[in-house]
Amino acid sequence: MKRYARMSQLYAPTLKEDPAEAELASHRLLLRAGMIRKTAAGLYSYLPLAWRSLGKIKSVIRDEMEGIGAQEVQVPMIVPGEIWQESGRWDVYGPELLRLKDRHGRDFVVGPTHEETFVDLVRDELRSYRQLPVTIYQIQDKFRDEMRPRFGLMRGREFIMKDAYSFDATVEGMQRSYEEEKAAYARICERCGLRALPVVADSGQIGGDTSVEYMALAEAGEAELVWCDCGFAADVEAACARIAVEEGPGTDCERIETPCEGSIAALAAFLSVTERACRKSLALIAEDGTPVLCLLPGDHELNEVKAAHAFGRYDVMDEEQMAEYALVKGYMGPIGADGRVRVVADVSLKGSQSWLIGANEEGWHIKGARPGRDFEVCEWVDLASAEEGDGCPQCGKPLRGARGIEVSQVFQLGTTYSEAMGATFMDEDGVERPFQMGCYGIGVSRMLAAVVEQHHDEHGIAFPVCVAPYEVEVVPLDTEGEIWDVADRVAHELVDLGVEVCVDDREERPGVKFNDADLMGFPYQIVCGRRGIRNGVVEVKDRSTGAREDVAIGDVATVVAERVISQRR
Ligand code: ATP
Ligand code: MG
Repeated sequence: MKRYARMSQLYAPTLKEDPAEAELASHRLLLRAGMIRKTAAGLYSYLPLAWRSLGKIKSVIRDEMEGIGAQEVQVPMIVPGEIWQESGRWDVYGPELLRLKDRHGRDFVVGPTHEETFVDLVRDELRSYRQLPVTIYQIQDKFRDEMRPRFGLMRGREFIMKDAYSFDATVEGMQRSYEEEKAAYARICERCGLRALPVVADSGQIGGDTSVEYMALAEAGEAELVWCDCGFAADVEAACARIAVEEGPGTDCERIETPCEGSIAALAAFLSVTERACRKSLALIAEDGTPVLCLLPGDHELNEVKAAHAFGRYDVMDEEQMAEYALVKGYMGPIGADGRVRVVADVSLKGSQSWLIGANEEGWHIKGARPGRDFEVCEWVDLASAEEGDGCPQCGKPLRGARGIEVSQVFQLGTTYSEAMGATFMDEDGVERPFQMGCYGIGVSRMLAAVVEQHHDEHGIAFPVCVAPYEVEVVPLDTEGEIWDVADRVAHELVDLGVEVCVDDREERPGVKFNDADLMGFPYQIVCGRRGIRNGVVEVKDRSTGAREDVAIGDVATVVAERVISQRR
């Protein structure tokens, strides 16, 4: 028989004060609401409330996986070292990999991800194309010895992941499996109440994407994104935005005295032009030793990832090196620089005719400089970090900026693992071929943290129904007499209607109960107090909107149950 939970018995040790070590809202609130406790750095115990929420996330995942025909399995967390040697990852995986030996001295790893295990699992069983495609998945703890475990569940060392692996006979088949998983992942985020964007992590050679990360939008996110209503979204590292060029003043190449500080902001203010109309110069030494001068729109930053793409492991020039190449800090430019310096400009500047650049002399700039006439640009490269307001590469509309938490990632792997591990099947023509694989991961515990990041206020968590530990909290302001009888009856009626209810049966002051109710953030609160009951009503509070209304005692269970059930998704 279903029962309601009693707050007095709930193992949810709440904290009155903010824990000092918690920077992020999710970390702070999950600790304060008594949902998680730290065992050691990056190792957390999930207490009953968190475990219930995680259970709901897992059921959404299972439901969506079933919808696309993926089958759940469970493989050991501990993986024999030999198969990691076979795949080649034994030698290349960094210190995040926890390696151990058993009593016989055999090598093992605690799985940070399980490609090897799954390939090993199917390679002797799936022998013919007729048995394909197959997608199998598990929901299990992973271990990664992260250098900086932090932010509670956001970046743990042991964390819960759902990992799926697809095995197909052909590239087209793999792409189909990938698209299905990708679509399911979008629905999983949506059903768990997460606003997330699919961000292309890697573009395929034939077009289309081969890896997408779902980024839950949140201030606390580690990733910096730009996105557009047309559906485009990318990490600033990967986005090639359309940056509208602004020309500098004048068209004749002319030296001008600029007795201002050697920064773009000071120069722009001194000449009354925008920062974008100036050209920013940055001096680097490329990996192969070539001195490089990068020219960018004055208001944009050099993107380190793009720069590394273009120049390898580069260094920023020090003053001594600048002097060697006749470059003057704060007043750098291509004109007057040593002939060995390779001038590389951001691709957005191509076609610009009037450049305001440094003159390589303290206190002097050059205006109206034109590439091709007054100096040479060796190469036009995408170097600038995309920013909010730049043009969307797909539709041209202004991009919007956001930060994101990576909650999941899908990959087309192709035959990388199957070839390395000799996992083959017989195709229609009797030829042995390696499986075409995809792999798909969701950070289940990180997802709970992301939900809290998106659904909280200064008083606590405001869970969406689909992920809430309980759907309704009944708050009687007395634990005996008429008030208790009403609360107990309403709670029973709700349970009979299939709603998950917790009753705050503690002998605490109303203020304490209200604060804890707001902190734990169950979606609806039903407050049973003397004055209301005298008028035949109780108060229903919607935790996320804060809206309160009086509802007749006889109706409240059906009214609230209807709202809850309609939001279950
Ligand atoms: P990150 O870039 O954040 O380190 P990742 O790209 O290395 O993550 P994947 O290998 O793609 O992670 O793993 C799949 C999912 O597992 C991630 O999308 C993320 O949600 C989750 N995840 C990865 N590392 C952690 C961690 N240390 N703690 C909690 N969740 C994690
Ligand atoms: Mg990832």
